[in-house]
Amino acid sequence: MKLRKLGEFGPEVSVVGLGCNNFGMRIDLETSRKVIHKALDLGITLFDTADIYGNSGGSETMIGQVLGENRKRVVLATKFGGAMNDAGTMKGASRRYIMAAAEASLKRLRTDWIDLYQIHFPDPATPIEATLRALDDLIRDGKVRYIGCSNFTGWQLVDAQWTAKHHNLHAFVSCQNEYSLLVRSVERELLPAMQKFGLGMLPYFPLASGLLTGKYARSKPAPENTRFQALQGLADRYLTESNWKIVERLETFCAKRGHTLLELAFSWLLARPTVASVIAGATKPEQVEQNAKAADGVLAPEELAEIDDISPKP
Ligand code: NAP
Repeated sequence: MKLRKLGEFGPEVSVVGLGCNNFGMRIDLETSRKVIHKALDLGITLFDTADIYGNSGGSETMIGQVLGENRKRVVLATKFGGAMNDAGTMKGASRRYIMAAAEASLKRLRTDWIDLYQIHFPDPATPIEATLRALDDLIRDGKVRYIGCSNFTGWQLVDAQWTAKHHNLHAFVSCQNEYSLLVRSVERELLPAMQKFGLGMLPYFPLASGLLTGKYARSKPAPENTRFQALQGLADRYLTESNWKIVERLETFCAKRGHTLLELAFSWLLARPTVASVIAGATKPEQVEQNAKAADGVLAPEELAEIDDISPKP
């Protein structure tokens, strides 16, 4: 497994990471254990979760239960800020909330430190300076090693980086946003800002929830026990006419060039500037194995240009 630095200022991470939002949602503890152990065996070092995954805490709890001594081998990334209760009293990026959220995540993860602590969504109710000061204190206390943001726009990232610099606070080292062959909007504003400030990208929904694995066909219902069969909202979002047109053209490209769609989904992202690790989710150990292999491919410049014609730049 190859390693890359997460931006200029972040830790080294495996180029294939493990997205952990299936734990406690699509899969139980025993299956999550198999997925985690397979990832460790393959040299995957980056595990990305969030406090909210798995019905408010389930994913972090399972990771804590399974990792044990292996915790030291991995870069454990989690997030705060999403709503942890229905009343809406446990969310956001205020100092008071961050301090409580970090303690709760550390406890569920059964660890003394979080390697990458990410703000899940921008919080319009809290000045970014207050958020950065709280995160800076967590780093100085040794509870957090690096900080990152998720779902920020270009201007929100620039505002945060300048605020950190102006006040001599630790700055974000990474962004996590939706990015795949089907969703390229980050290329417009966010990616250029990230390049300027030396941040690393962790693209989420890199497989478009499975549509870029090649297991779905327009003419057939979603196969049994897949995400699009289980989660209608995501199926409606991704199985659109315009996505099918792109996927079918990508499949033709793959057939001609001797790639699989899965390989293309990984190798294309890893050829993009700033991308450090593709944090794909998995519900079975075999998927982790396929995903780890899929990242080995390298795309030639003319292939990348051909792909731009199929999946246009935003
Ligand atoms: P994804 O990586 O695009 O899709 C993962 C799903 O595709 C798997 O759960 C599995 O679904 C299917 N799959 C994966 N590998 C496969 C293979 N080799 N063959 C066939 N099917 C395969 O989406 P994601 O897992 O939702 O996103 C990745 C990670 O990004 C998450 O785990 C999470 O850590 C993060 N994320 C962050 C945000 C944010 O706001 N920051 C939002 C979403 C996700 P089935 O087996 O169920 O069909």
